[in-house]
Amino acid sequence: MHIDIITLHPGLLESPFQHSIVKRAIEKKLVEVNFINLRDYGIGNYKQVDDSPFGGGAGMVMTIEPIAKCIEELKAKRTYDEVIYLSPDGELFNQQMANHFSMAKNIILLCGHYKGVDERVRELFITKEISIGDYVLSGGELPAAIFCDAIIRLLPGVLSDETSALSDSFQDNLLAPPVYTRPADYKGLKVPDVLLSGDPKQIENWRHEQSIERTQKRRPDILKKHE
Ligand code: SAM
Repeated sequence: MHIDIITLHPGLLESPFQHSIVKRAIEKKLVEVNFINLRDYGIGNYKQVDDSPFGGGAGMVMTIEPIAKCIEELKAKRTYDEVIYLSPDGELFNQQMANHFSMAKNIILLCGHYKGVDERVRELFITKEISIGDYVLSGGELPAAIFCDAIIRLLPGVLSDETSALSDSFQDNLLAPPVYTRPADYKGLKVPDVLLSGDPKQIENWRHEQSIERTQKRRPDILKKHE
């Protein structure tokens, strides 16, 4: 998989790709992630990438020319499955979408800033708009990092035990069951006997029941999709 992230603040993106599972995926060459500084495509001596909004009002708007130049240059090198704009008014990101995008080969992610991008960027270049939640952040970099983490961990070979991702919350529209490790008894708080039984069938049944119970209590809305 190849991901190009267009951003005005590449520094904001560095750390999430330098640790843990995502770092290992990059090292194993299971994914290639490329940060493109939009400032390099800015106009004039000041490398301008934004301007005040037509019609007036607060905040700046990211102009179309630098973004167009950047996306066109990328598209000349490879064919992209999706050109995604991270935006609070996009489709709410969820596990099913992560599963879907984990099968893509090439993706462009466009991070907005200020008041966002000129609407014509969305009309001309964007194939999908994704929100990571009903709140507004300063820029698309953290949403892009979240999107990448969610899809990269699903790529074959990234997790040491590939079945692990399948037992996480939201796969099958269920929350994950509780998990325990040593000690089996902490100050009188004991691990459920079934988990120490060594009986895989009983353990599997217990976990499934716990998943359903937890989902019923915490997220009855997703349980409906499971039924
Ligand atoms: N004026 C925009 C609005 O009200 O919808 C908000 C712009 S926001 C300050 C700047 C940028 O941050 C957006 O262009 C987008 O790329 C990113 N962003 C902010 N919140 C986001 C969210 N919940 N999901 C995805 N991207 C977000």
